[in-house]
Amino acid sequence: MAKVFNCKDFGGVCNWQGRAETREELLRKIAKHGAVKHNMKVMTETMLAKIKATIRDERKEFKNLKR
Ligand SMILES: [Zn+2]
Repeated sequence: MAKVFNCKDFGGVCNWQGRAETREELLRKIAKHGAVKHNMKVMTETMLAKIKATIRDERKEFKNLKR
């Protein structure tokens, strides 16, 4: 099941959405996006935990859209 991450769910005004088939791949995309767009050079354990809590299954996203 694909995983999605909405940057704005993380507390910003950024509309970037990351999507990947695995959480590991998505985490890499998020780290790259953070470094490029948000000058996030270092990913701390606390931030990583927050990001993991923000990642959703794509299927749930679709359910939310239908409602
Ligand atoms: Zn962003």
